[in-house]
Amino acid sequence: MTSSVPYPPPLTTAEQEKLVQTIKDWSIANGLTVRPAPTVIPDEVNSTGIAAVNAPVTLFPSPFPKQCFVQGKSIQTAYNALYAAVSRDEAFLAQMVKEVVDGDDFIRNLWDVHLKVKAEGYTQNLSLGLFRSDYMVHQDENAQPPVLQVKQVEFNTIASSFGGLSTKTSGLHKYLAQTEYPLLDKALPGGSLDLPDNQSIHGLAKGIEAAFHAYGKSEINHPTCVIFLTQVGERNVFDQRHLEYQVASSAIPVFRLPFSDILTTTFIKETPKRQLLYRLPSNPSKVFEVAVIYMRAGYGPGDYTDASSWQARYHLERSAAIKCPTVLTQLAGTKKVQQVLATPRPASEPSMLSKFIQDDTDQAKALWKTFTNIYPMDTSEAGLEARKKALVPEAAKAYVLKPQREGGGNNIYRGAIPEFLRKTPESHWGSYILMELITPPPVENVILRNGQIEQGGVICELGVYGACVWDQQSGQVHYNDEAGYLLRTKGDKSEEGGVAAGYGCMDSCSLV
Ligand code: ADP
Ligand code: MG
Repeated sequence: MTSSVPYPPPLTTAEQEKLVQTIKDWSIANGLTVRPAPTVIPDEVNSTGIAAVNAPVTLFPSPFPKQCFVQGKSIQTAYNALYAAVSRDEAFLAQMVKEVVDGDDFIRNLWDVHLKVKAEGYTQNLSLGLFRSDYMVHQDENAQPPVLQVKQVEFNTIASSFGGLSTKTSGLHKYLAQTEYPLLDKALPGGSLDLPDNQSIHGLAKGIEAAFHAYGKSEINHPTCVIFLTQVGERNVFDQRHLEYQVASSAIPVFRLPFSDILTTTFIKETPKRQLLYRLPSNPSKVFEVAVIYMRAGYGPGDYTDASSWQARYHLERSAAIKCPTVLTQLAGTKKVQQVLATPRPASEPSMLSKFIQDDTDQAKALWKTFTNIYPMDTSEAGLEARKKALVPEAAKAYVLKPQREGGGNNIYRGAIPEFLRKTPESHWGSYILMELITPPPVENVILRNGQIEQGGVICELGVYGACVWDQQSGQVHYNDEAGYLLRTKGDKSEEGGVAAGYGCMDSCSLV
């Protein structure tokens, strides 16, 4: 693509209408869908819950630098191994928890679950990680010529979503590139776009299957199964269903279990192994042994409404089921850990990263390149420096302040940081990290959301999935693979990028 040709191509009204209609139909026909919010389809007209609507999506795949795409994909297995290693280092995680726990009861409760299980002894050493490392493109203006590289926004170790819809979005854009874009007045000829393959559904399902097989046969003569732990009223259900169907197609029984039903439908066998048994609510004579629990719930305080919710998490953690993730792996995904790993090596000491992987290797160098500046907000020298910046509106403009939370909507951006801090007890500031904002080069696109068109500048965020099965005790890695990608795009006026949260939309990469 040359820069003289505008991208995406300008559309006439008739062309836009045709493209939108094609996307609406393709999306429903192929499951690029979500359950509607009541603001889109009111409950009164959807009382039977049969409605599904198009997931928000771009009309065109956004241009994305090929070298950045390759960079992100090529380091995923190194990231998988790194986070497996972090999750095995209990002393390190204890220190991380200690640093953020003042003002963060959620993290405290998670840690307590781990301590309780540790006291009686874990009975499952295998762990499954379905990870997603999120990046934005950063343009290094100091280099000549300017260098484009991906910088990590965050690393997700729990409920990494959109792997189901992402394969579908790539499919949609490939279909449009073949059938619709060549017919435009400002045509994109067939084959003119470089649209990479995206096997996120297969990749993530393969991770679940690897864990399922590693669990082995039931010693107490039950059929084994996989549980998808879900939130009640989940609207992003088809994203999960695509993974579920893929796993089920390998003749593995998969059940969806709402987080709130853990204690009523599962129980632990009184054996040294503590097998987790699942009694099918629709037919209680059917009892399965749970080999793998894939958590698409339990990542934030919202799911823990009372003490019994924490009891439920503890119940899962102490069982023999392979957890995706364990409490320790969930804690490895905190922003605090990311900040500490990304902290440059002090002059005379080894880096924190070198605790987990050999530093000064090509792989370690590749990881270092993806780190951006992240600071603690504690009372260390670096923390006090960060506090100074965060408290001055002009300086704070270049930063985002993050608590130890997942799922979107929790961060404080730019000018809002100083006031937020002033309202927050100083003793709690250490539970946040301060991160430099990444400002990717401007891109244009058109978004279809709830039947409405939004056009203009957009910001793209690449997610690379990884699947990993490892032994917490021995460190042996049984399975480690890169598992496809996600491109999420949001209007350039929006700070947050979450698709489910209503900020972003699904997209795919047109490599340039
Ligand atoms: P969460 O765990 O809630 O998803 P993230 O760290 O992913 O938190 O932040 C949410 C969104 O905020 C991201 O998807 C991205 O759009 C934006 N964001 C976060 N950190 C940065 C950053 N350093 N630079 C630019 N945008 C960021
Ligand atoms: Mg995120």
